[in-house]
Amino acid sequence: MADYRKMNRKFAFMNRQIPFNKPFLTGKETQYIEQAVAAGKISGDGEFSIKCHRFFEHRYGFTKALLTTSCSDALEMCALLINTQPGDEIIMPAYTFVSTANAFVLRGASIVFADSEHNTPNIDTEKLERLITPKTKAIVVVHYAGIACNMDAVTDVAQRHGLYVIEDAAHSIDSYYWQRPLGSIGHLSAFSFHETKNVIAGEGGMLVINDPKFVLRAEILREKGTNRTAFFRGEVSRYEWVDIGSSFLPSELTAAFLFAQLEQIDQIQQKRIALWNRYYERLAAAEARHYARLPYLPPWSHRNGHLFFLICPDNNTRNRLIAHLRAKGIYAVFHYLALHNSPYYQQKHTGGSLPMATHYTNCLVRLPLFYELSFEEVDYICDEVLSFFTEAHNNLP
Ligand SMILES: *Cc1c(COP(=O)(O)O)cnc(C)c1O
Repeated sequence: MADYRKMNRKFAFMNRQIPFNKPFLTGKETQYIEQAVAAGKISGDGEFSIKCHRFFEHRYGFTKALLTTSCSDALEMCALLINTQPGDEIIMPAYTFVSTANAFVLRGASIVFADSEHNTPNIDTEKLERLITPKTKAIVVVHYAGIACNMDAVTDVAQRHGLYVIEDAAHSIDSYYWQRPLGSIGHLSAFSFHETKNVIAGEGGMLVINDPKFVLRAEILREKGTNRTAFFRGEVSRYEWVDIGSSFLPSELTAAFLFAQLEQIDQIQQKRIALWNRYYERLAAAEARHYARLPYLPPWSHRNGHLFFLICPDNNTRNRLIAHLRAKGIYAVFHYLALHNSPYYQQKHTGGSLPMATHYTNCLVRLPLFYELSFEEVDYICDEVLSFFTEAHNNLP
């Protein structure tokens, strides 16, 4: 009998499947949704939305937080708020998600793609200034994996040329540049609560406004171009169509779900960071032997446990590593096909080759990282990563 149990355990172990992501529920989500339903207010900007806005404004010192239906929508609001026009140029890294660029392309802007740093997939601030022309309107940064960009360098260039700074903070919840929360540094910032992020609402996002001059217009754009928000505050006697806009605000059902997550943010962050650290420690051996590079943390940056990645020496090794892990039931993925080479933009891209963006496209691999992942599973994944590299190395011609 004992032998059977052992065999079963071994069998279960061999057949384990570790997904890439699994959305975490704190347990309060449906209760809060029921509460919103019972209160008879399920459209946007009810009690739960207000609680979420307050949470972010108090915890991170954001001037104004406004929930949106996605980070993509928050980025579209950024493009509208800075009055993006055809002919404007917007600088951003090529190594990013498509929404970073789409938001500005929708307003007719040209995207000037910047390369990534050698050490991190973040925008290379040393090569930033040469991308600026009289048409440049804004610099959009992406804090990849929640690791902060060099914001002093970005702000310095932007101030000297009179440009807006926008943070695509989709990866950046609860992370910092020195002591400053990410999302609080640019004129405007955009967060995501998509189910693959640290704190989730299914689909959801948030616009953060740090320059108060944008607050009133943001409320109008978000409410279909009407002054309805000011009307509900009793500031105007009727609400009217006063500007362009759209319906960027999420329902109370989304906000109720999100608030349940925010109540547990410390617990979520603690676990995710501990898993991230475990990967980092266990895979240090791979970096020491020059098999692969681990995430580099600049002196001003913090880890927020959003995603863990490795950088393989070449594309073939990366793809073989993913296949090896898949055969062991581990779902690792690669992402961000650099946008300057995309079918939609490559004809429009005039900036030449961006070798580091291409390098990350070819060589970066993301390992599973989600709240319910166990330390034992991380160890199993790391063992498989290390044995892949050792074997690959021993088989060199
Ligand atoms: C996830 C993500 C987005 C888009 O977020 P949505 O909420 O899905 O619109 C934008 N930018 C980056 C860098 C992202 O990772």
